[in-house]
Amino acid sequence: MTEGKPDWYPMWRELGIDIDKHDQLLAVLPVIFKEIYIDAQKNRPDTIGFWDFVVGDIHGIRVSELKKAKEEGKKVIGTFCLYVPDEIIFALDAIGVGLCGGTNFSNYASEDLLPVNICALIKSGLGFGVGNICPYFAMCDLIIGETTCDGKKKCWEVLSEYKPVYVMETPQCKDRPQARAHFIQEIKHLITKLEKVTSTKLTVDKLKSAIVKISKKRSQMRRVYEARKADPVPISGKDALLMSQIAFYDDPDREIEMIGKLADELEQRVKDGVGAIEKGAKRILVSGTPMAIPNWKIHHIVETKGAAIVVEETCTGTRYFQSEYGEIKGNTIDDLINLMADRYLDINCACFTPNEGRKEDILRLVKEYNADGVILYTLNFCQPYEIESIGLEKAIK
Ligand code: SF4
Ligand code: SF4
Repeated sequence: MTEGKPDWYPMWRELGIDIDKHDQLLAVLPVIFKEIYIDAQKNRPDTIGFWDFVVGDIHGIRVSELKKAKEEGKKVIGTFCLYVPDEIIFALDAIGVGLCGGTNFSNYASEDLLPVNICALIKSGLGFGVGNICPYFAMCDLIIGETTCDGKKKCWEVLSEYKPVYVMETPQCKDRPQARAHFIQEIKHLITKLEKVTSTKLTVDKLKSAIVKISKKRSQMRRVYEARKADPVPISGKDALLMSQIAFYDDPDREIEMIGKLADELEQRVKDGVGAIEKGAKRILVSGTPMAIPNWKIHHIVETKGAAIVVEETCTGTRYFQSEYGEIKGNTIDDLINLMADRYLDINCACFTPNEGRKEDILRLVKEYNADGVILYTLNFCQPYEIESIGLEKAIK
């Protein structure tokens, strides 16, 4: 038992966690976090203490909350992609948990199952699951995959040997009229599947209130990003990234409250001219593949060299919250599904072709955030983002 924290070992053992490996992971994480987040940064907003606390107990409190919810009959549903609508999961009284892997620590468990030249995110995420190192993964009653990129698409087949997996078929060319109709059908199939798993019937009211709740979380994140347009920037890119990474799996109500408090503090800092990084620092936009916990590398390198990352055009950045619902009107589930299809297909991931919208997003963000430079970031062997960066580089230049 770690000093000051409950003894989580009985819970981890009950979940079948590989305790030796898990101990190794939890021995390294606080050391890295202290070096990257605590020692290397100053003038952090006070509210960010909440996120430090969450990382300090990363596999503890939240997992125990999920355990309690499961004992009360709720289901836990794991997802890996922004195109899987969280709103449906929460509307069915289940809990959505964003699963991912941002470290090669877990790769030993997945390397024998996958070809060498598979994207690092897939290797890591699968490793955490099949290696029994991730309690969130162990908690899941169902994992929802999608057919975004080829690596993930085939990875679900491997994963289904270990966990119940359901795959949503996401379109490849979203500009075609039939793509929207197809996506709507897929949302409907997902609802049917989740109704079965949760033994709950979806209602208009429940879906509407889940849409409102998840939208509220996204709008609080948007406020944090708005504040980052200021010079001096009131929060480091590293801290903003941490906030996004945790928003994927934490309780949405708590996130609404805490991100809201962070946004309040940042807005005040902007008024007072208080910065986390010096005024006049070079401003960098990062664009590309998602950065799952504990992938803080690029941000750490850039910000320890005196520049500031002011915005991320990634799934752990603007792609998470940029698309909005507008007015949530509708009297039937079909009405709401239509709104959902528009909102989700408005996300510009490199898994689509063509994907002009992402280019427009980046060029707009460069202006809005007054960026001095852009880093196009791609995980090794991620073909969609790597190939797309060729055209993006030309457009940005
Ligand atoms: S990069 Fe694309 S496939 Fe990956 S999580 Fe984001 S939306 Fe999904
Ligand atoms: S980073 Fe690229 S290859 Fe990896 S899962 Fe996402 S889209 Fe697929």
